[in-house]
Formats: sequence, C-alpha cells, structure tokens
Amino acid sequence: MAKPKIAVFKFSSCAGCQLSILNIEDHLLDVAGAVDIAYCVMAKRENREGPYDIGFVEGAVTSPKELLELKKIREECKVLVALGTCACFGGLPSIKNFAGPQREMEERVYTELWDLKSIPAHGIDYYVKVDAYLRGCAIDVGELVQLVKSALLGVNPHFRPHSVCNECKLKENVCLLVNKGKPCMGSVTAAGCDALCPSLGRPCEGCRGPANDANAASLARTFSVDLGLSRDDVRRKFLKYAGNTPEFKKGAEAV
Ligand code: SF4
Ligand code: SF4
Ligand code: SF4
Repeated sequence: MAKPKIAVFKFSSCAGCQLSILNIEDHLLDVAGAVDIAYCVMAKRENREGPYDIGFVEGAVTSPKELLELKKIREECKVLVALGTCACFGGLPSIKNFAGPQREMEERVYTELWDLKSIPAHGIDYYVKVDAYLRGCAIDVGELVQLVKSALLGVNPHFRPHSVCNECKLKENVCLLVNKGKPCMGSVTAAGCDALCPSLGRPCEGCRGPANDANAASLARTFSVDLGLSRDDVRRKFLKYAGNTPEFKKGAEAV
C-alpha cells in the first residue's frame, strides 16, 4: 500500500505545532504503518509538489498572500487539517484584531510600513473548508496521532467535546478557581490536553478554544465580581487565543 502523502504548511505562527509533528515522526511510523512527509519546509531541503493526501496548515491567515496560498493548498489536499489554535481560531496572532486600529498596531511593530499588506488574523476555516481541527497552543501529540490513524482508516477521530474541568477532576486536582481564587478558564475550554496547566498549579488560559456549550459570559462575571478582575483583564483572557469565536467573544463582552 502506498504511504499517505503528507504536507505541512506554515502561515503566521511560531512554528511550535510543526515542531510537535517532527518530534513524533518515529511514533507516527509505528502507529500509522509509515507516512510520507512529502512537503515540510522546516524539516526537509527537497520538497515535492502536490496533490497530497493530508495537508496540515499551521498558523493564522494575516495577509492577502497567505490567503492565495491557502486556497491553492485547499485544492491540493484531500484532507485539510487546521494544525493548532492559530490555524483553528486565529490564536495569538488574532490578538491584534482586538488591540486597536490595525494601522496603530502595525506602527507599533514595524518601522517601514509602505510595503506592509496585512489583514485581520483569522483561522483557516474563515476562508476555506476544513476537514479536521487539532486545537491547542501547541497541539496535543496524542490527538495528532489519533487523527492520522483515523484518516488512514477512513473514520472520524473522537475528540473530547467536554471541558478541561472534566479532565482536571479526573486527575483529582484541587480546583484553582474555587479553592484558590485563580482565574482559570478550564470550565469553558475544550478538553484534550489532560488538564495540563491546572495539573501544574497554573490556571488554564483557554488555549484550546471553547468547549461545547461553554458559558463564557457566566465565567467572565465570576472573574469580575468574585475575583475582582478589571474589565480589561477579563477581555484579555477571552481574546487571547480564540477571540474570533462567538463563544469567547461573549465572555469578552460580558462585563
Ligand atoms: S498554536 Fe501556539 S504553538 Fe502552535 S503555531 Fe500557534 S502560537 Fe505556535
Ligand atoms: S482548576 Fe480550573 S480546570 Fe481544574 S476544575 Fe478548577 S476551574 Fe476547572
Ligand atoms: S490547561 Fe488550558 S491553557 Fe493549558 S494546555 Fe490545556 S487548554 Fe491550554
């Protein structure tokens, strides 16, 4: 059987999710019966043209050039996967969408603006059809392996629809929000990281985006009324990773 041809593309991002893929190549070979990484500029000098069986796109779309590239990639890939929170929701690059007028943001960062062509940062499904989402900043390696296996078998991967709190409870962690008054986003954030941050004593920052039925407005009011966070701090918490989603937008606008 021919090895599935995999391509990895990068848009506006820190490349941390691509690194996660490269770190598990041996594991992928074990579990998936060998894949052919045909295109991955970060890993290989010689890369091959499409079409590809699975295309992973990392990063948010933040320029007209990236948008054109994304449309071509969509045509070349049978299965298109949003790799990481930047590609799923806009991620950290999308902070600029909410931080002030676009030109003001650009002036803070660049000295030469004449050649700068920038658009608001969005996840890739704002522009093209996406077949699967790997959330997280960075992605969870277990979910990546599960997704590749499912694609090879032609079945849907089973990703957890519930919140980080469920995983946190299973680990029997003391609740940081209830017991320690820390602004933890676990109750509104999609599970899949095994409650990584709360298990290390740090509040969840919401990097995997909204869980199903997330009541972000209620959590925002808890942050404001019970924990005394300022309106700006509450907004920042909900706009950090997935402010483009309707759920976290509601949280940002609730106080
Ligand atoms: S989701 Fe996080 S780790 Fe992945 S590319 Fe974006 S900023 Fe980097
Ligand atoms: S620490 Fe955070 S994730 Fe864990 S149960 Fe409390 S609110 Fe939920
Ligand atoms: S606990 Fe929250 S911030 Fe930490 S990895 Fe999981 S979803 Fe991301």
